[in-house]
Amino acid sequence: MCRWRHVKNVFLRCGHGESLSVVEIKCESTNCKFGPNHPSLCVPPSCMRTCNQYRLYPELYTPTIDGYCSACGMRYRTDSEIHFKEFDRYLAAYLAKGTHFSAQHTTTDSLPAPPDHRSKFRQELIPLTMHQFHELSTDVYDDVIRRKNEEGMHPPSLDLLSSHCVSVPTLPILEDFHPNHIPERQNIAALTVSLFEDLASDIHFDLGRRYPEFKEDVRASLSGPTI
Ligand SMILES: [Zn+2]
Ligand SMILES: [Zn+2]
Ligand SMILES: [Zn+2]
Repeated sequence: MCRWRHVKNVFLRCGHGESLSVVEIKCESTNCKFGPNHPSLCVPPSCMRTCNQYRLYPELYTPTIDGYCSACGMRYRTDSEIHFKEFDRYLAAYLAKGTHFSAQHTTTDSLPAPPDHRSKFRQELIPLTMHQFHELSTDVYDDVIRRKNEEGMHPPSLDLLSSHCVSVPTLPILEDFHPNHIPERQNIAALTVSLFEDLASDIHFDLGRRYPEFKEDVRASLSGPTI
């Protein structure tokens, strides 16, 4: 007999469900007035006696999907766009240097890291799930804001005079920031400026890989007409 089917997608990555429209599942029976095989000549009152007049109790169909629901996807995207733009501003000077990556091997600068240092780390961001990457991106973003605020309170020129009142990171500075190691939140706060810029550039890079349209937006806003 025919029945309604409520489809509710369950998203494994975030555990949320999304109800979709109700669909009618038709049966093959000739004795069901809702089915496609019900003879068109079978009409009440005889049909009332011979044929099924009700649909079966609705069934709930919950396919699982290895992904995020659209609300989570939207939230991650919205946050990611804010992060991307902030990193873009924060790293403007760093990115303009252009000595990292493509041009790196042509420079004579003795960079502390081997040439593939950053690209190796960036490779490790690729397999991160949206959730894992979002957490890391949020940590780095929060620290950009913290660093900018601190810079505002303590301009670099005053550093020597007021170094005693610059808030001391909770953990000692990481001597070697290993590319295999994704730093924890408190460790991010302890990174030196150049290591932090490296990390932020990696996140910025992977945001651009995950959301290529962000790069277009930034370019458009830079080259577009100013109002
Ligand atoms: Zn039916
Ligand atoms: Zn009938
Ligand atoms: Zn969700």
